[in-house]
Amino acid sequence: MISTSVKTTGNHYHIRTGKNILENELRDALSDHATDQLFLLVDQNVAKYHQDYINHSLRGITSNIKQFIIPEGESSKSISQYSNTLDFLLTNGIRRNIPLIVFGGGVTGDLGGFVAATALRGIPLIHVPTTLLAMVDSAIGGKTGVNHATGKNLIGSFYQPSAVISDIHFLNTLPDNEWVNGLSEILKYGAIHNDQIFEDSKIFLKGKPSDQDSDKLISLIDKCVKVKAEIVGKDELESGIRAYLNFGHTFAHALEKAADFHQISHGEAVFLGMLAAEKLSLSTGGTLKTNPLHAFRDLYKYRVPQEALSLDDLMGSMYADKKRTGANLTFVLLNKWQEPIVKTVEERELITSSWSVVFDEIERNRI
Ligand code: ADP
Ligand code: ZN
Repeated sequence: MISTSVKTTGNHYHIRTGKNILENELRDALSDHATDQLFLLVDQNVAKYHQDYINHSLRGITSNIKQFIIPEGESSKSISQYSNTLDFLLTNGIRRNIPLIVFGGGVTGDLGGFVAATALRGIPLIHVPTTLLAMVDSAIGGKTGVNHATGKNLIGSFYQPSAVISDIHFLNTLPDNEWVNGLSEILKYGAIHNDQIFEDSKIFLKGKPSDQDSDKLISLIDKCVKVKAEIVGKDELESGIRAYLNFGHTFAHALEKAADFHQISHGEAVFLGMLAAEKLSLSTGGTLKTNPLHAFRDLYKYRVPQEALSLDDLMGSMYADKKRTGANLTFVLLNKWQEPIVKTVEERELITSSWSVVFDEIERNRI
């Protein structure tokens, strides 16, 4: 088990990563709370595969448990699911000191975090991320929220958990595409902060990490957690360097939108977005040696149809993004690998030509 501590304003907690650690770490996390009652939110698929493991881990702690299943998929990050979940807590007598434990990926985590932030103006929250992406990214940093018809993540708040328990036991049942989703964010930390992450990520090159790779996987997840925790610790409310975590994401968001969030996963879009950002970094004065992302390109297979991706649409949606300030686009680029910088790019044609690597890559690895 590896532990990383996170300091935030008015809060201090640990992110623990290991294998088969759920029972011990829950016991430890719950010892801080003066109640024997618990509420659980559990992703539908996590309940399907891991209900016995969850029950077993809690058996010696308390039997006073109420559980609510969250349907799988992005559509659960909605006001209506938020409302249903609050109904569940409030009609079952939630109180200020009763912890909410959230088991699932980014969807359940973001929804559950927002519910915890707002029920009774805030109840204790414990995250148990069950996808690779949630372990390295969404469960860390305190962003919570749901989507709105006009865009993703438009309703929410910053709310820190009292503990995060990442037990790779859950990853045994993770679907293939979810591994790639997590990998892209892992490689992002390699690009912006820690070169060693590229080397460590080679465990993914031979397919899903095997049991023999467990220790390496745990150490890699923790390295990513440390990068994110450090950045978020310096910039909890996203006013400065937290932007570095968006490396590749300006391009990625445009791609996801163009493909209507269906034919391309977030991970695929982020991988392509990082290739485009590398090209833009080079054309705006960065000095980047060999691209370490290329070692991983064969793990990505694209099924997004050509028609979904017109350069005009992609450019249009970039310029329409809510994060834009002024007339020009701002990107997280690299001076060098592991040396991110926020740059405003005035030359539209440099951005346009960065998209060419995305089109080439999709052509190269099309299903
Ligand atoms: P992400 O974590 O990638 O943001 P989700 O929360 O939507 O996304 O989770 C992705 C999918 O994986 C969902 O269908 C969810 O039900 C499923 N899932 C989550 N954790 C596990 C797991 N440990 N085993 C199998 N499926 C899982
Ligand atoms: Zn991302």
